[in-house]
Amino acid sequence: MAAKNTKSSDIVISGGGMVGMILGGGLAQQGITITIVDREVAVAHLDPKFDGRSSAIAFASCQMLKALGIWKFMGAEAEAIREIRVSDGPSLLHLHFDHQDLGEGPLGYMVENRHIRHGLFQWAAQIEGLTIVAPHEVTGYKPLSGGAVVTLKSGQKITCQLVIAAEGRGSRLRKLAGIRTTILPYHQTGIVTTIEHELPHLGIAHERFLPDGPFAILPLGGNRASLVWTTSEELAPTIMGLSQRAFDAEIQKRVGDFLGRVKALDHRWSYPLSLQVAEDYTAPRLALVGDAAHGIHPIAGQGLNLGLRDVGALIEVLAGAHKSGSDLGSDHVLAAYARWRRVDNLLLIAVTDILNRLFSNRSRALRLARDVGLGLVNRQAGLKRFFMRQARGTVGKLPKLLRGRKI
Ligand SMILES: Cc1cc2nc3c(=O)[nH]c(=O)nc-3n(C[C@H](O)[C@H](O)[C@H](O)COP(=O)(O)OP(=O)(O)OC[C@H]3O[C@@H](n4cnc5c(N)ncnc54)[C@H](O)[C@@H]3O)c2cc1C
Repeated sequence: MAAKNTKSSDIVISGGGMVGMILGGGLAQQGITITIVDREVAVAHLDPKFDGRSSAIAFASCQMLKALGIWKFMGAEAEAIREIRVSDGPSLLHLHFDHQDLGEGPLGYMVENRHIRHGLFQWAAQIEGLTIVAPHEVTGYKPLSGGAVVTLKSGQKITCQLVIAAEGRGSRLRKLAGIRTTILPYHQTGIVTTIEHELPHLGIAHERFLPDGPFAILPLGGNRASLVWTTSEELAPTIMGLSQRAFDAEIQKRVGDFLGRVKALDHRWSYPLSLQVAEDYTAPRLALVGDAAHGIHPIAGQGLNLGLRDVGALIEVLAGAHKSGSDLGSDHVLAAYARWRRVDNLLLIAVTDILNRLFSNRSRALRLARDVGLGLVNRQAGLKRFFMRQARGTVGKLPKLLRGRKI
């Protein structure tokens, strides 16, 4: 669609990744006119090589995708996570979470990002009041009294009440608004690929803590699993450059033999890992969502889930403002969103950071402490239920959509 056709919109969202698309469609369903601008065309997002990751969608996030009508476009591709097994290197101790101990349904679902993106484009195509402008880049925004104006690289302008940055970790609007961001590099790289294996995975997700970082084996449809192999940034280029045979052999060593023979797809992706936390989630006429506000370690598969909680909260706050005829970009509305999300996100941001630092470590003393900790949690049914509810995303001040309720 050409940008020249879009001159004004209630809200402009810069960034049509998974978070921007779900937010845009969800707001348009409330009768708010939305323009999403993304620098990549849809076909680029849908190219199988664009994003090789799969996402662990927490149970609560899945509830929201159902309430928004998205799940029916991707649910057939989802694989339930029934159990999680956490182990610490060669230690015989492991932590075992079984969804049956909670009796509340699966812990979540694994869906390949390519299927999520495909489903989102199908869903978005049938929503009125949602315009996608791509490939176009947002280069600036200016808050005015009673609104804002967004500038695209082409020189075109879009006026609106509120601008939302869903631009991912390198958000330009966040920088332009002068929002300070803490960035702590982990000096680790996440290498991602999909494997095929001989024996069934039985819906079990494995998280192995190896000295260079966690190694995750996550169940996908059929005899397939998504791998997230976290390693040091020094070693990553060597692993990325291994021949297919050598790569398969290294994977087999780390997976072990419980899945029989494993074989990786011929494509690998790598992601530099860091922690990023924006000090504010809002600025005049601007709100940050998803990775633009917080980028975390993939250790617990929670980055997108946090973004979806932002989305649920922002839809709830803005739908309320829209119904009462209030200005969607007022300080009052933005403050309600920021208050809600900043505190809720902090706990999980801290937990993922501590987990990675604690487990990506060769210290023998720490190893001992970890094993004592694993054994302790394993014996405490109450603690295990607490962790399972965290993984399901059903704790904290949940937006209505994440409780499966429509707005
Ligand atoms: C290895 C790995 C595994 C992960 N696994 C999980 C998991 O299992 N579960 C989970 O919940 N999370 C997981 N995550 C985290 C998750 O992938 C991210 O949190 C999520 O993709 C963030 O989505 P986003 O839409 O906020 O940002 P992005 O995906 O970065 O999208 C940003 C979009 O904005 C566009 N854009 C940027 N700037 C502009 C501009 N100026 N103008 C126009 N367009 C612009 C880009 O083109 C892009 O489309 C994982 C992350 C990694 C690295």
